[in-house]
Amino acid sequence: MKSPTQRPALLQELKNYLLFLKDYGYTEIPQLTELNLDASKKTVKSATQNNPGRLQDVREELGDCSRCKLSEGRNKIVFGSGNPNADLVFVGEGPGKDEDEQGFPFVGRAGKKLTEIIEKGMGLNREQDTYICNIVKCRPPANRDPESDEISACKPFLLKQLQAIRPKVIVALGKPASSTLLGRNVPITKERGTWHEFEGIKLMLTFHPAYLLRFYTVENRKAIHDDMKKVLEVLGK
Ligand code: URA
Repeated sequence: MKSPTQRPALLQELKNYLLFLKDYGYTEIPQLTELNLDASKKTVKSATQNNPGRLQDVREELGDCSRCKLSEGRNKIVFGSGNPNADLVFVGEGPGKDEDEQGFPFVGRAGKKLTEIIEKGMGLNREQDTYICNIVKCRPPANRDPESDEISACKPFLLKQLQAIRPKVIVALGKPASSTLLGRNVPITKERGTWHEFEGIKLMLTFHPAYLLRFYTVENRKAIHDDMKKVLEVLGK
């Protein structure tokens, strides 16, 4: 049972969700099972359980990492999850509290929004059609942005993950992921929705789902919707 103080936040979340469905053309509220909103918690498996291939080698090389100071405060390394042969990879920023506890990326509030975008918005299955990882594999304290030494320590592993998967499309979620992959400071509000290239792989930049949750405007929802439509076109879906 939620306390009275939690109710306004819950109502806001419900309102946002209904707006999201409206944006994607829904005229009825889908069944929860159909939505698979809890997919992240129930079905997320470590990618390395599915495919003991090159990705497994990368995970083994990472080991019980202490290459940067983020290792000191982490509970679990959040390597990545999804299909190691996916055509589509999402790259986020770094684990938050829920991810650090569970060891899987995007399983908290922003993760639910990302799952919604993938499953409801794009009509894909998060686990089968995508692979999801972050630029840093350990939680930054109090969810601050990862610092440059932390990104430098972790980036080789992100690159190896992307080289192992070689998807058709990479989507960078937010400024830190976009800047890390492009190796320059990316003004995300200006550059989102544009195509780039990362080691010969098409790279789309878009807003981070946490930013969308914070600024749940028609413009921001439409922006992500438009960006994901471009991604689907390239994927031939
Ligand atoms: N935000 C991210 O960027 N990554 C996660 O895994 C969760 C939230």
